[in-house]
Amino acid sequence: MNISKKIILLPAVIIVLLGGAGLMVIDEEIREGLGVRVERELKWLAESALEGLAISNKTLTVANVDAIAKRFGNISGARITFVDEFGVVTGDSKVAIEAISTLPNHKERIEIFQAYKSGLGVAKRHSETLKQDFFYVAIFKPITVQGQSIDYYARASFSSLTIRKQIVHMRYALLSILTVGVIFITLLTVLVLRWLSLSNEREKLHLENELRSRDTEIELMHELDSLLSACSEIADAKEVIKQVLPSILTQSQGAISVYKSSRDKLKTQMYWGGTWSENKHFRPNQCWGLRKGHRHLSSDKQQGVVCEHFANTGNQSTLCIPLIAHGETIGVLHLLKSKIDSQTAKLADAIAKRIGIAIANIELRFSLREQAIKDTLTNLYNRRYLFESLEQFVARALRTKSHIGIVMVDIDNFKKLNDSHGHDAGDLALKAIAKFFKTVTRASDVVCRYGGEEFCIVCPESNSEETLFIAEKLCFGVRDLAIQISGTQKITLTLSAGVAIFPNAEESIQKTISDADQALYQAKHDGRNCVRVSQSIHS
Ligand code: GH3
Ligand code: MG
Ligand code: MG
Repeated sequence: MNISKKIILLPAVIIVLLGGAGLMVIDEEIREGLGVRVERELKWLAESALEGLAISNKTLTVANVDAIAKRFGNISGARITFVDEFGVVTGDSKVAIEAISTLPNHKERIEIFQAYKSGLGVAKRHSETLKQDFFYVAIFKPITVQGQSIDYYARASFSSLTIRKQIVHMRYALLSILTVGVIFITLLTVLVLRWLSLSNEREKLHLENELRSRDTEIELMHELDSLLSACSEIADAKEVIKQVLPSILTQSQGAISVYKSSRDKLKTQMYWGGTWSENKHFRPNQCWGLRKGHRHLSSDKQQGVVCEHFANTGNQSTLCIPLIAHGETIGVLHLLKSKIDSQTAKLADAIAKRIGIAIANIELRFSLREQAIKDTLTNLYNRRYLFESLEQFVARALRTKSHIGIVMVDIDNFKKLNDSHGHDAGDLALKAIAKFFKTVTRASDVVCRYGGEEFCIVCPESNSEETLFIAEKLCFGVRDLAIQISGTQKITLTLSAGVAIFPNAEESIQKTISDADQALYQAKHDGRNCVRVSQSIHS
């Protein structure tokens, strides 16, 4: 038997036991009380009957007296007997009129005898006349009939059967009340238990759901962590954030804004949960999260101060959390949701921490990589990057059967510039020429500082004509370039360039570079300020 059944049965059993005990006590009380009540009732009936006899004011013949006895007997349900002062029965509601005269003298009946003595007689005894046990109450007093005062007995009685019937009725009534009580309390208990178990079930379900969603959140946070740490570029992080965050910060919209390198503005770089229609460029002082240095929540439009950069929030709550990494604020996380509770805010805090670190790491990796592959003076790729990228270009060219053009460039008489205007002027000239190279070449071309005042330009998918065209553009362009080397002074420089094309007879890119170098040497030999094409192209 399970606990809930025990809980239902227990009160029912207690009620039955208590009811049973109560029933016994009440039964006892009824039986005791009933005696007194019956006696009182019988006395009253006897008095009423005697009163009736007096009121009828008829001669006290058997016919008259018996009629009154029978009428009172009918009305009350009791047995009414009239006895004259000599003990002769003159009327009895339960005895036929013809048999009245045959009844023995009642003078010696206990109740009659007591009534004769004290006016009231009570007895429980067997009736000789009706052969049953009766409860008798008799009174004896004078009545006035037709102006004459006569002493008379009136007796009222109930058979013990009638009294027992009354007791049985009362017991039935008590039992019915007890049964209804037990049924009612059992039903009530069942209903209360059902309600309790339902609310327990609901609470359990709620807790289970809560637990499950916490588990999912933890898993998703781990996933976010591992995905973000695997991102090498901002574009990767953008994709991760777009895909993962809607599952963690549900039914919300959000974005990440990052400081520009000038640090006077922020730009919204990534978002999730739908198109971000808020201002994508804003100043740091337009964001309360950045001004406070910690998260800023506007619980709703009426209560909270909404950051200035939000323009289309409607009635949604807003949350801005600064992204801090390695002690530096690098941006801010924005969240828009109809209602942002403390759980969501905490979750957003944890996410902001992870995204901040991830972005900082990506930027750090990017700048380390830039330092490794770029020349710091000209910001062009260095020789190391050139050879790294050439491997890929060669593989693609061999696969697609395309050409790679190589242009080797050297600034003419650069030593003279250094000697006459100083090393700083030389540096400025190198920078200006590098910048010019970037404007002239295509996005797919790789411009490298090969060393000193020498450059190498890799032109993928370019034949000799196209490469020659680029080389000439560089030479002719620099020739016309007025290079500012001080506040007032401008100089001009010339270039010599050599062009070669991969693949060559040996199908080696190193050979192409050395061919281009040879052609450059030829240009120098031919008087500088000109472009020469490698012999390998003609052969
Ligand atoms: P040519 O026309 O034959 O190439 O003559 P050149 O003077 O350009 O060639 P040379 O090899 O004699 O001299 C190259 C000079 O470039 C020497 C060096 O001081 C200068 N140079 C190399 N790297 C830098 C640099 O980073 N900054 C400055 N200012 N000068 C540099
Ligand atoms: Mg030179
Ligand atoms: Mg040189």
